[in-house]
This record gives sequence, structure tokens and C-alpha cells, in this order.
Amino acid sequence: MLTQAENSVPEFKQWKIGAVTVTRIIEIATFALPPEEWFPIDAELIKKHAWLRPDFADEDGRLLLTVQAFVIESAGLKIMVDPCVGNDKSRQGDMWKYRSGPFLEHLALAGFPCDSIDVVLCTHLHFDHVGWNTRLVDGEWIPTFRNARYLFARTEYENAKSQQSFNAKATFADSIKPILDAGLAELVETDHRLNDEVWLEPTPGHTPGHCTINISSGGEKAVMTGDMIHSPFQASEPDVSTHFCGDKAQANLTRRAFLTKACAEQALVLGTHFPEPTGVRICQHEAAWRAYKP
Ligand SMILES: [Zn+2]
Repeated sequence: MLTQAENSVPEFKQWKIGAVTVTRIIEIATFALPPEEWFPIDAELIKKHAWLRPDFADEDGRLLLTVQAFVIESAGLKIMVDPCVGNDKSRQGDMWKYRSGPFLEHLALAGFPCDSIDVVLCTHLHFDHVGWNTRLVDGEWIPTFRNARYLFARTEYENAKSQQSFNAKATFADSIKPILDAGLAELVETDHRLNDEVWLEPTPGHTPGHCTINISSGGEKAVMTGDMIHSPFQASEPDVSTHFCGDKAQANLTRRAFLTKACAEQALVLGTHFPEPTGVRICQHEAAWRAYKP
């Protein structure tokens, strides 16, 4: 019989994209969010899109979201993408602050102890995408993945450094600067190519240096969205950006371009905040799009 602790270990879902393997590591399990908390819309609009239920919205029009990271295995490299919120961090928001979750234990159970990670990629530098960059040891923030190169987009780094909100300043101080100080950061361009299979693609709007993480192998394609799209409902409503998107007009343009391309290429879309099934494909529907389970 499973103990309760074992029972709570999430499923380490995996996808194969040609020769590449992607593993999902969930930090915060699926939660229901009244849409107005993140978006300038209400539950009625979500209820109107019946296709969102039951996977992406509930009967009350609340959005279903998660916080999760992906590990890419490509050409001998283990690449951590968007390492979530982290533990012990001073943040505004009850869901985010001073967490003490088992993310690293789960990561190790999935086959990726911290020291095995070779590269860390962040789609952008908001607090829920960089948290496990560091962990608190004896009162100091030290790099969690001490054998890794951490690649930050230069534009994104400059922007993160200049932000003045409480969460942005705290995030820079505890999750970004310590990586620079340890000499593990590399500032790269927003179209940086890691190898033949994995590269960044600029997707500005949510933040100026936001990138998606793209995979191509054996004729198959996948893309990790970061916050370029938060929820599949935005396939039906591509011109709805969150309150937290810095340049909403640009975010909408970027999202439309992404949906057009993902639909044409039938890429596997791995939504950074999408709940199970997390990986979807995009199809056209009337004047917009929908996401469907592959
Ligand atoms: Zn996010």
C-alpha cells in the first residue's frame, strides 16, 4: 500500500519528440482560478467556450492552471526549463511565499538529481519561472544546479534588473543575481541555439525578452510556451492578455503568430501553466483556434 507521501508524488509525464525526451515536473498541482484574478475577463466568457471543460476550466468558469517545469533530454544534455517558484522565497501572494514543497525530491525521483542538470533555461525571469535557480542554505541563496550553465536572454535580464515591484526586486535579488555572482550565468540572444534540437525563439509581449523553448527532432516539433499563453482559452480568445503582460498589444500579436505557426506545423504545445494533459495541439476554429489533446 502506498503511504500518503508516496501517493502525493505527481506523475512524471513524458513526451518523445523524435530523439528528444521531455519530462514534466509539477510544483503546484492544478488549481482553479477565477479568471478575473489574472485576466480582464469574467467567468461568463470562459463558460461560453464549452470545449474548455473539463480539462482547462470548471463548471463555474474558473480556469484550471498549474505551475510546472520541464526537463529536456537532448544529445546528452539535461536541460531544466522554467524552474518554478522555489522554496523559502519572500513573495507577495499566499500561494507563492515561503513555500516548502518537495520539488527537488520529485525531480530526483524522476531521475534528475540537481547535480545532473547541465543547462537551465528560463522563458522569462518572473518569479514563477526562476525560483529553483537557487535554494536557501545556511541563510544564503546558492545555485541549485551547481553543474549547470544558466542561460538568460540579455534583453530579459536587463529588463528584470530594472523592475521595481516587490516581487521583481526580491526575485532578482534571490534567484538571478546569485547565479551571476557564482559565475554560472551566460547572457544570450533571444534566438540562441543550444544545439541542433533545442533553441530559443523571441516571443516578446509578456516581457520584452520573453522566449519560447523550441524542439525539433526526427521531423517532429514541440514548443514550451512560458507565459506567451497562460491558458488554452486564449486559443479561442487570442487578444486577451493577463494583467501582468507588460506590452499587451505586442503579447496579442505574438500569441496570434504563435497559434498560426503551431497550427500549421502541428507542433506539440507544452503549456507551462497548462494542466493535464499539458501537451496539446492547435487547430483552427471559426475565426480563432482551439487546443485539443493529441
Ligand atoms: Zn508564469
